[in-house]
Amino acid sequence: MVHDVVIIGGGPAGLTAGIYTKRAMLNALLLEKMGVGGQIIVTDLVENFPGFLEISGGDLARKFEEHALKFGLEMKGMVEVSGIEDRGATKIVKTYEGDFETKTVIIATGTTPKKLGAKGELNLIGRGVSYCATCDGFFFRDKVVVVVGGGDSAITEAIYLTKMAKNVIIVHRRDQLRAEKINQEHAFANPKISFVWDSVVEEIAGEKVVGKVIIRNVKTNVLSEIKTDGVFIYVGLIPNTVFANVTKDERGFIVANDKMETSVKGIFVAGDCRVTPLRQIATAVGDGAIAAVSAERYIEGL
Ligand code: NAP
Repeated sequence: MVHDVVIIGGGPAGLTAGIYTKRAMLNALLLEKMGVGGQIIVTDLVENFPGFLEISGGDLARKFEEHALKFGLEMKGMVEVSGIEDRGATKIVKTYEGDFETKTVIIATGTTPKKLGAKGELNLIGRGVSYCATCDGFFFRDKVVVVVGGGDSAITEAIYLTKMAKNVIIVHRRDQLRAEKINQEHAFANPKISFVWDSVVEEIAGEKVVGKVIIRNVKTNVLSEIKTDGVFIYVGLIPNTVFANVTKDERGFIVANDKMETSVKGIFVAGDCRVTPLRQIATAVGDGAIAAVSAERYIEGL
């Protein structure tokens, strides 16, 4: 059976593409490596998606999924794509569970948190080092935690951690945050949050679990240590695009035009894994809608 469209990734971009392709009466299949929902599942609070003043990421993900199911989108979870073979009029989406033939593909695979690369980091993952405050914050009730990074992820997750932790120390490599101004204001106003500016984490140390971080001031090169029970790392994102043989930028984000067309005809992209000036749920949803309509028009032209 040849599908009209195979959507890879079940986050906001992929699910929106699913809703739009089903409304266009296309035979669409969504493949997801884990469970449907994407990274917002591990987001405690979303307060910038229009129409929802405050909603948990998990609840919003469930609403997206419900919406896609309402229009009959076929979804397969726990299916990881290993490659896409371009045969011209059709593509073969290769997975570890078998191959799927399709006229178009929409890549909406999102991103994965980047590792910091500090000494000790990898050894202490799950023993104090974490990349997900909503998953692991609970273990740090009344403890001291360090958050590394100055973007929206670091700041929003640091604010979330103050619900459990005694103190949250944000270590940032510059003296200004990258995060949205409103998130910055919330962090500056939070009495549990303190900042260590112009500093990078050189080492995360501890016997069985994290006990301290060694930081270096990038202006003075002076080393110092902070005693801490946990280290939450938010130093950017890596796109999940290794399987995709399309044009990417130097960091692996997929290049597309304003119709979400990639360098290969019939392969489209949507959401955080593409080169874009803004990575938000609202922009992912917009990309998903455009990619779906572009796929529909491409199929009409075949
Ligand atoms: P990001 O915006 O790329 O920020 C990464 C942060 O880590 C930057 O502050 C960066 O410092 C720092 N950093 C990078 N490499 C480092 C290293 N090796 N050592 C120390 N620090 C390092 O990533 P993000 O915060 O994950 O956000 C990704 C996207 O998702 C953004 O578009 C963001 O707006 C969006 N997002 C939005 C929300 C929201 O609530 N609106 C929440 C989460 C994410 P520099 O600033 O010096 O570069």
